[in-house]
This record gives sequence, structure tokens and C-alpha cells, in this order.
Amino acid sequence: MPRTHMPLPEKPRSKHEVHRSRPGSSIDIAAYFYGEQTVCPDCVKDLAIPYYQISNPDRSTEDILNEAALKARIDRHGEDSFNSHEFPKVIFASDIAGGDYCFVCLRSL
Ligand SMILES: [Zn+2]
Repeated sequence: MPRTHMPLPEKPRSKHEVHRSRPGSSIDIAAYFYGEQTVCPDCVKDLAIPYYQISNPDRSTEDILNEAALKARIDRHGEDSFNSHEFPKVIFASDIAGGDYCFVCLRSL
């Protein structure tokens, strides 16, 4: 009997690995505005960890930024209280315009 059921091919890998565990919020954060540049979450994480001397880097970018904000005494909820040079600001997926890309790794967002 011919097999009609094809095994599903492995999901194609995107150029950048998608993190299996999404940040613990339902809000889709597409990138961050950092130093007046658009930076993807992975790169923000890489920048923030050494800068703020985050001890446990194996967490979501948001977790790390929350800790960093505490250290830097930044009120992340008051976006007008700091500028993007002082601390990365969240860019939601809905705010991403077509053609935006990460300033650091150049991946498109
Ligand atoms: Zn990047």
C-alpha cells in the first residue's frame, strides 16, 4: 500500500533563530529604539548585559531590561522620563514600518 502520509519536513530555520520561549508578555515587542537607532531584541540584550552587568543573561530581553532599568533608575513606564540614549525604548510590532532593520545586525524586523 502506498504511503500517502508524507512526514512533515522540518520547519525551515529562519536566518535568525526564533527563541523558543517568548518573553513573558503577550505584547509583541519587535525591536527597541536605542541611541536613536532601531535595534532588535537580541542585539539590545547583547548590549545591555555587559553595560548593566547583568549576572544571569539566560533570560528574555525584557527581563534583562527590567533589571537594567532598576540599576539605572529608569522608569520604563514613563517613556518621557528618559531618552533613547539613556535606555532602550520598546517598539511594538504594530509600530514597525516595512523596511525597518536592526542597526546592529542588519536583520529586517
Ligand atoms: Zn540585531
